[in-house]
Amino acid sequence: MKTYDAIVIGSGPGGYVCAIRLGQLKQKTLCIEKEEVGGVCLNWGCIPSKALINAAHTYEKAHSSMATMGIKLGSVEHDPNAMQDWKEGIVKRLTGGVRGLLKSNGADLLAGTATVVSPNRVEVKKADGSVETFEATKGIVLATGSSTIEIPSFKFDGKQIIGAKEAVSLREVPKRLLVIGGGVIGLELGMVYQAFGAELVVVEALPTLLTGVDQDCVKVVERRIQKRGGKIYKNAKAMGYEKQSDGSIAVKIDVEGKPETIVTDVVLVAVGMRPNSRGLGLENVGVNIDKRGFVPSDEFGRTNVPTIYSIGDLSGPPMLAHKASKEGEVIAEVIAGHKAAKDWACIPGAIFTDPEIATAGLTAEEAQAKGIEVSVGKFPFAALGKAMAMMETDGFVKIVTDKKTKQVLGVHIVGPEASTMISEGALALEMAAFAEDIALTIHPHPTLGEAFMEAAAHAMGAAIHIVNR
Ligand code: NAD
Repeated sequence: MKTYDAIVIGSGPGGYVCAIRLGQLKQKTLCIEKEEVGGVCLNWGCIPSKALINAAHTYEKAHSSMATMGIKLGSVEHDPNAMQDWKEGIVKRLTGGVRGLLKSNGADLLAGTATVVSPNRVEVKKADGSVETFEATKGIVLATGSSTIEIPSFKFDGKQIIGAKEAVSLREVPKRLLVIGGGVIGLELGMVYQAFGAELVVVEALPTLLTGVDQDCVKVVERRIQKRGGKIYKNAKAMGYEKQSDGSIAVKIDVEGKPETIVTDVVLVAVGMRPNSRGLGLENVGVNIDKRGFVPSDEFGRTNVPTIYSIGDLSGPPMLAHKASKEGEVIAEVIAGHKAAKDWACIPGAIFTDPEIATAGLTAEEAQAKGIEVSVGKFPFAALGKAMAMMETDGFVKIVTDKKTKQVLGVHIVGPEASTMISEGALALEMAAFAEDIALTIHPHPTLGEAFMEAAAHAMGAAIHIVNR
């Protein structure tokens, strides 16, 4: 039996980062993967969707703003096949890069399906049917991620009833697209195909889209969807569908008790992800799986079985790649005997709708619910020269501060490059910054970052380029 210091199950952004860091720390490491290296993030999630989102944004710009900027392109067309080939090229480059990094850091990668058979042993079934057992002297890291939730009345057929994996692989833009679930995936991918001409309908069970996200930010995206002709049903449940003789699909929805039928060509089911905790043998070794299927772990990443660790989507929400990666790094250090723990101030979020939404820390409502009196600074991109020059003036930066001390409690951005700008917000929270720290930091002109500085100044009643109220 081969013995390692650590065995990592799963090679997504949690698992592969953990294995690389373990290798860097001179730990003998085995990483086991049953599908593709890179997990959902690299193969079917974050990266493929961002390629398509960027293509959609470029196409949209070519249509809507370039002529105003004085650039005439003639006819602008899209080619979904070429787009898919381009996207797949990016995925190949990245997954190849991950293989290379694992190797150069001394971590072994093994293709196969792993089962935990004891607190320090893992059995791997390989593609040829053979089974091998490995021992981990220091720890087993579970990094198996999550899978798309299927609704029983909308069983995936891979063509007309699809999940996110198929939605990032379409080689034809549907004429009509109905998205079940007004969450992150539904809005990101729904807006991609809307930009390429699909008539978009979003059916959301709750009273709001992107529940939990600052609703002022969400409204900006909602208006954009509607301005492009999209329809949004809230408090609405998709009940089932019937295939029509012309190949289309009639979806029955229930909107606050009233039945409606919407005819569409493709249905994207995006109602959340479920942690991959079953079939790993965890029950045999007594690892706790909670009611929702997560495998909870403490600040050192340890499950209730001290030699078994859990990270990423499997360990609990938020289900975000960057959270998984950071946990992977920290847990590698814990296993290597370093003083490390999960002790971050916030986990920022970036939603790649058009415009983007990005958040870090508390919303004003969340702060108030904790009994904190808040003072909110807000600066609109419409008042910013750089945003005008980019023709992207929708949105704002909002900074939530403690009314008394002006310490930054949360940052919420909707607008151009929100996903890039939020890192400064996350740093502000990590450094326990005050609005004054941000307002006094010189931000170069002309940049989108000035909106962050001005929003902080606004929280103190001292913004320059808007009237302070
Ligand atoms: P989600 O939880 O973001 O959204 C699912 C939505 O579906 C919710 O609003 C929910 O109320 C709604 N819903 C559930 N059942 C429904 C029903 N029967 N009918 C209508 N609506 C229903 O989940 P998602 O969009 O599938 O994304 C899955 C996970 O992936 C999330 O945890 C998300 O954070 C992550 N993700 C993140 C990003 C990003 O950060 N940019 C991108 C993609 C995915």
